Amino acid sequence: MIAWTAMTSRTAEVVICGAGIAGIAAAFHLTRQGVSDVVLVDERPPLSLTSDKSTECYRNLWPGPGDALVAAMNRSIDLLEELARESGNVFRMNRRGYLFASADPARAARFIESAHEAAALGSGPARIHASASSDYRPAPPEGFDDQPTGVDVITDRALIRKHFPYLAEDTVALFHGRRCGWFSGQQLGMYMLERAREKGVRLVSGRVEAIATAGGRVSGVRVNGTTLATPRVVNAAGPFLARLGRLLGVELPVFCEQHAKIAFADTLGAMPREAPLLIWTDPVRVAWTEDERAALATTRPDLLEELPTGAHGRPEGAGDSPIVLLLWTYHLDPVEPVFPMTFDSAYTELVIRGITPMVPAFGRYADRLPRAVVDGGYYTKTRENRFLAGPLPVDGAYVCGALGGYGLMAGNVAGELVASHVTGRPLPSYAPAFTLARYDDPAYRALLERWGESGQL
Ligand SMILES: Cc1cc2nc3c(=O)[nH]c(=O)nc-3n(C[C@H](O)[C@H](O)[C@H](O)COP(=O)(O)OP(=O)(O)OC[C@H]3O[C@@H](n4cnc5c(N)ncnc54)[C@H](O)[C@@H]3O)c2cc1C
Repeated sequence: MIAWTAMTSRTAEVVICGAGIAGIAAAFHLTRQGVSDVVLVDERPPLSLTSDKSTECYRNLWPGPGDALVAAMNRSIDLLEELARESGNVFRMNRRGYLFASADPARAARFIESAHEAAALGSGPARIHASASSDYRPAPPEGFDDQPTGVDVITDRALIRKHFPYLAEDTVALFHGRRCGWFSGQQLGMYMLERAREKGVRLVSGRVEAIATAGGRVSGVRVNGTTLATPRVVNAAGPFLARLGRLLGVELPVFCEQHAKIAFADTLGAMPREAPLLIWTDPVRVAWTEDERAALATTRPDLLEELPTGAHGRPEGAGDSPIVLLLWTYHLDPVEPVFPMTFDSAYTELVIRGITPMVPAFGRYADRLPRAVVDGGYYTKTRENRFLAGPLPVDGAYVCGALGGYGLMAGNVAGELVASHVTGRPLPSYAPAFTLARYDDPAYRALLERWGESGQL
């Protein structure tokens, strides 16, 4: 049961629109920086639009250019670890890692190169394990303390089979990112929301309909017909970031992509409960039977083509939970955010077939599909997939969003950055990389034209 606050007081020092992880993190960090007269407005229950649809994983492995995203993510993970420690790990943060796997012999060299690149960007050291006697240290299933950072690359097939016997026999290379794992996003968000409310943050139910300005600066926010007088507003509206920006006359350079996942009881035990997040890095051509191919040729010819890399999954839940989460995004067109969402009716089958080349035991479900829950949300992104946390070109207006597929892990650093912009605290060196003003820099715009990978999963 959500305890909303009635809008009795009609003023606030800061109004935040959106109680997803971004808005909650902004509120939480404002209180940590001494600002408590904060109203957090949402027309839905907190964390219920995108932030509870996540796979809840985190990683400090991100591509360049530059080290800003790795530095920001390391800071966010520092904050997550601090919160985990102070709360007795109520959100069950682990450090199992991201395990990228390949059956392509050419991929091994690429994994080694990527591990060295990651080390240069600040993710931690590269360790290459090319023989069966190598000192590779597997990750414990629970906890996050005293674990290595950086990346282990395993290219010895005997060592791969020893530690990961459930992966396909033809797996020839693994890339195990170590400052990575997962946690309960809902527990994290509720923990931060409760701490913020204890400090005085008010959670108000309603729709932000208008933002008023006077003399070029924010003066108020209209929520369900009632105006709250405030000199500051934070746009943390998730997939509606652009729509809210327009209330201020600001065009935000963001778009949405639909991403889905399935959850089902892995009654056949295809994925061991202690597995890390498993990601297949090879493109997949689904092994349809002749009859299936003939049927799909007319109904879904797209599914007969080679489909992209990146099918991934992990076990979910503590104790004897049998649940697994699997994801595979094979179409990535920008879309308008529409709710309720609809999903490809073939998704469950596709994602199970997509993960089978990596974990063959999932193939046993192909003839009798499990009853899976399909859900998902929108990745709200800038074109280079770097989030927005900072001031907008209207005095008193800020943005905290465009967190793509990494908002649970980056929510803390984004919220902290916004709070520091509001309070005027010294900003870290990575702050400019996440402001809207970065697009005013001609050198940055030129860089955008030759931007490489975005690091999206
Ligand atoms: C399938 C999937 C897998 C993912 N996996 C991961 C992962 O493994 N790790 C990770 O870190 N991230 C992951 N993400 C991404 C992560 O979930 C998002 O980046 C994050 O939840 C975005 O949070 P947000 O607060 O910006 O948006 P939201 O959670 O959508 O919150 C925005 C809020 O604003 C409110 N709002 C909007 N407009 C108004 C208005 N006018 N008035 C009042 N309220 C308004 C909405 O009601 C909503 O509650 C995943 C996402 C998906 C979809």
